Amino acid sequence: MADRPELSVVVPAFNEEENIGPMAERLTAVLSGVGDGFEILFVDDGSTDATWDRIAALSRRDQRIRGLRFSRNFGHQAALTAGVAAARGEAVVIIDADLQDPPEVIPEMVARWREGAEVVYAQRERREGETWFKKATARWFYRTLRALTSVDIPVDTGDFRLMGPRAVAAFRALPEHNRFNRGLVSWIGFPQTAVRYHRQARAAGETKYPLRKMVRLAVDGLVGFSSVPLRLATVLGLAAAALAAAVVAAAVGLRAAGNGWAGQAAVVAAILFLGGVQLVTIGILGEYTGRILDEVRGRPLYIVRETTEEPGEPD
Ligand code: UDP
Ligand code: MG
Repeated sequence: MADRPELSVVVPAFNEEENIGPMAERLTAVLSGVGDGFEILFVDDGSTDATWDRIAALSRRDQRIRGLRFSRNFGHQAALTAGVAAARGEAVVIIDADLQDPPEVIPEMVARWREGAEVVYAQRERREGETWFKKATARWFYRTLRALTSVDIPVDTGDFRLMGPRAVAAFRALPEHNRFNRGLVSWIGFPQTAVRYHRQARAAGETKYPLRKMVRLAVDGLVGFSSVPLRLATVLGLAAAALAAAVVAAAVGLRAAGNGWAGQAAVVAAILFLGGVQLVTIGILGEYTGRILDEVRGRPLYIVRETTEEPGEPD
């Protein structure tokens, strides 16, 4: 096989021991018919189960399967950044480890790439086996993000995609922390096109994206690609000022008519309202400044513990 395979498939995995084997099998079957050599690169994002053992065992049997292991859990976005950085293929496909993204879509992506698209992203037509809550929030999030940013980030699209060599090079040069990779890939530009697919239910195990991680990713997307939230302070401030003017006018009117004025309740409401507005806007500022701090610290996005080429000490 040539030193450089045509295709690298990057698979971030966090506690996916049951899925590694089936995933490798299905990928190998699909990729054998496609193009000029491939490699499968698993990125173990600090799993605490047997995920790494499975990857290492597969890699010993099949040279086309490689693995990279983090020193701890750095998160899905860091894992796929590491995968793209370490991939040796000309084009790189990113796919989830839980078989929710069917590997059978990859040949179609490769075909589009050969036709001239630099990025081929997979757009979900339907999602199966996911909660009503997840589908509704995801739907709402992608549309809100689109409304708030000038970058053309496609709706209903996760990280399942193919990047050609120019996109891969551009992606590798993006140093930012708190990454929303699907947005960054859109930001890169080049001809980008979609293939539609049905998202399956998870093959085994449970989601590794609890609400906390989902919210974080959503905020990274908004903060990373829009400064509209920063302007919210101005809007809320103007609205509060207008409301205050109306209240003063009403108070003067009531006084002139000789009526009393329910002062206490009004004062409490005003304090709570303004306090709330101020805390929300400070919170928004905090989201932006916290990310500036992350950039200034300049810590690496992840730390590699070992790879299948350079195994580390056993536990
Ligand atoms: N994942 C990861 N690190 C994490 C969480 C998730 O590498 O901290 C991987 C996970 O193993 C899977 C992919 O990211 O391959 C997507 O995660 P998951 O399927 O749990 O998310 P969902 O499909 O439920 O949104
Ligand atoms: Mg999943």
